[in-house]
Amino acid sequence: MSTPSTEEHWSDHAICRGADPDLFFPIGYSASILKEQERAAKRVCGNCPVTSECLTWALRVGEPDGIWGGTTPEERRRLRRNAEAPARRRLPVIMVRGDVPVGADAA
Ligand code: SF4
Repeated sequence: MSTPSTEEHWSDHAICRGADPDLFFPIGYSASILKEQERAAKRVCGNCPVTSECLTWALRVGEPDGIWGGTTPEERRRLRRNAEAPARRRLPVIMVRGDVPVGADAA
């Protein structure tokens, strides 16, 4: 039988705990209202002591909605694309017997 963990979690220090969820999941009928809600949520995140942990978590789980770690879903998609881009460019080098490595001197 395991005992419950008493370790703290980063979300224990989130200043948005108990805040109106609508602030972090903006719903509006116009772009200007959505932008204002987004700015209000980001102001809260800007004063949060666990912004980095929150953003890391949202990126890791691929959180598709809401403001997390001071970022919008689109901003997180951009961060993930940028983080993944270098990995996609690296291709494995496959050598077949008799191949001459690129850059090797033929002499
Ligand atoms: S960074 Fe923002 S969304 Fe994340 S815990 Fe802090 S206040 Fe909440």
